[in-house]
Amino acid sequence: LVIPHDLIEEAWNQIWNKGYVHEVAQFFATGWLANYWRIDPMTDKDFEWFEYKYPGWYDRYGKWWENYNRLSRPNGHHPIVAEDVDYQYPHRCWTCMVPCLVREDMVMDQVDGQWRTYCHEECRWTDAVAFRPTYQGRETPNMGQLIGKREWETLYHGWNWADVVSDMGYVRDDGKTMVAQPHLDLGDQKKMWTLDHLRRMPPLQSPNVLLNEMSDEDRQAFHANYVRGGPAGRPAPADGG
Ligand SMILES: [Zn+2]
Repeated sequence: LVIPHDLIEEAWNQIWNKGYVHEVAQFFATGWLANYWRIDPMTDKDFEWFEYKYPGWYDRYGKWWENYNRLSRPNGHHPIVAEDVDYQYPHRCWTCMVPCLVREDMVMDQVDGQWRTYCHEECRWTDAVAFRPTYQGRETPNMGQLIGKREWETLYHGWNWADVVSDMGYVRDDGKTMVAQPHLDLGDQKKMWTLDHLRRMPPLQSPNVLLNEMSDEDRQAFHANYVRGGPAGRPAPADGG
């Protein structure tokens, strides 16, 4: 297997210049309730460290992390994923199965009758062009197939979040408290999220199912907004090295 050098360069470009690592951290924290993680909120000291190391970081991510802190204890609101905090939940890359976190690089295509999103043009090419039964007139039977359920949300589209987390097995032995919590203050039951909190949330929705339900016009508008980085269309922070 040979990976072309320009793809390596582009991977570094995403990691180094397009904020990839910061997007991953934000996405993992957003999805705390669908996993077994306990990511504690940041302090002012953490904010200073990030801003010092990555100038521009606070302008892009600081407000969201302050919201993460504000929403970390159940207090009449939903988990952050279901609150309006200027965050666009990412679509999944059909090929590499990671979220399309570098928003400006996301591309779409209709393959095998289904609209799919990709994290980058190279991943679109892999699915739509390379992993086909023939390539440039030659049969390519051993290229593999990118089939099946490729985003977990598809399996739970329309489910209540309490049922999703129960089905995944992320509930403690008391039968109601979630394994995951968005803080480390685990000694006080009043600060712990339970299935009762999740039960009140709107149902889980699969980004890919929604994408395929859109009209062509709406889908184009969605894509244009997505690649602008969502509502604010913010630039990536510079890396301080
Ligand atoms: Zn990809």
